[in-house]
Amino acid sequence: MKIFVTGGAGFIGSHAAIRLLDEGCSVHTVDKLTYAGRIENLGHHLSHPGHRFEQADIGDAARMQVLLSEFEPDVILHMAAESHVDRSIDSPQDFIETNITGTHTLLGCALNYWQSGEKPDTFKFIHLSTDEVFGALGQTGSFDENSPYRPTSPYSASKAAGDLLVKSYGTTYGFPAVIVHPSNTYGPRQYPEKLIPLMILNALEELALPVYGDGQQRRDWLHVDDHVEALWQIICRAPAGQSYCLGGGSDISNLEMVEALCACLDRLQPRSSGLKYRDLIKFVDDRPGHDFRYASSTEKIRIELGWSPSVSLEDGLEQTVAWYLGEQDRLRLLPARQRRGQGN
Ligand code: NAD
Repeated sequence: MKIFVTGGAGFIGSHAAIRLLDEGCSVHTVDKLTYAGRIENLGHHLSHPGHRFEQADIGDAARMQVLLSEFEPDVILHMAAESHVDRSIDSPQDFIETNITGTHTLLGCALNYWQSGEKPDTFKFIHLSTDEVFGALGQTGSFDENSPYRPTSPYSASKAAGDLLVKSYGTTYGFPAVIVHPSNTYGPRQYPEKLIPLMILNALEELALPVYGDGQQRRDWLHVDDHVEALWQIICRAPAGQSYCLGGGSDISNLEMVEALCACLDRLQPRSSGLKYRDLIKFVDDRPGHDFRYASSTEKIRIELGWSPSVSLEDGLEQTVAWYLGEQDRLRLLPARQRRGQGN
């Protein structure tokens, strides 16, 4: 199978591209290499014989059209995005350009490719959305594929706009697309502005661990290996026109997450002072419009595609912390790691 992966030098994209190569697929990775895209994320798979990498912007229509015609993919896995909520609050324009206009440009090229007859009958366009398009939950309940769209941040609004364009192409042109709504994903290679890597690297440098508000906001954490397994099942078996929610079933507060990371670090690399890492926790002003809780029902993908998460939060965090411990010297040098808050 030939898969065209956008955003393949990012966190989830690199895990997906590597998994697809390991499954024997031919992969054409396209990535603009923004601050969040790192070619090193692809490791030795960069020179895999089944892999071609191109530094390109999904908003470059002429380039996308040529690349699709040359490669003739069976599936487009669209993961390229501006992905950090805090940045979208500080500076939304890049989110509009990539997540809305860029997605629309890519969609137009994919539609041309699909309509040109070059495509296989089984062709589909898989669009990575987020559970954040559904807004915030209260103490109970969960999102599902029929939840109304209520995005609250410029990030989630831009992702929702991308989803609506993809849906409109399905309705208007019969374009075969699938939309995926994953929950917060974690694991190795996540850019260290997001909650888990930011906290780990700050702790190792004895810096404050900035927790927004009272830290009681809740997130449903999904390990990246489980995320990529779901994408593989969707690639192989999901019918066009469907959407799927993904979640790890690990709904905990942000403060509990930071405390769990601190406990893990206490075990794996105790502070030389003998103090606990949790002493570095510092409550900071809350993020404007901070959604209280996200949690998704995964009943549909469990029943239809037989997927369920298999990595426990305890094991996943231990593996993730161990990975960052091994990479800390290199990652410390990355720009823009220190944001004003905790990340997410
Ligand atoms: P990431 O920020 O790590 O990677 C995004 C990648 O897209 C980067 O490599 C970047 O260089 C590339 N990119 C950005 N703009 C581009 C453009 N105009 N053209 C080509 N490439 C461009 O993000 P991620 O965490 O891996 O997220 C991947 C996808 O999954 C995104 O669509 C995101 O919205 C979605 N998602 C992420 C999470 C999460 O917790 N990480 C949860 C739900 C959904």
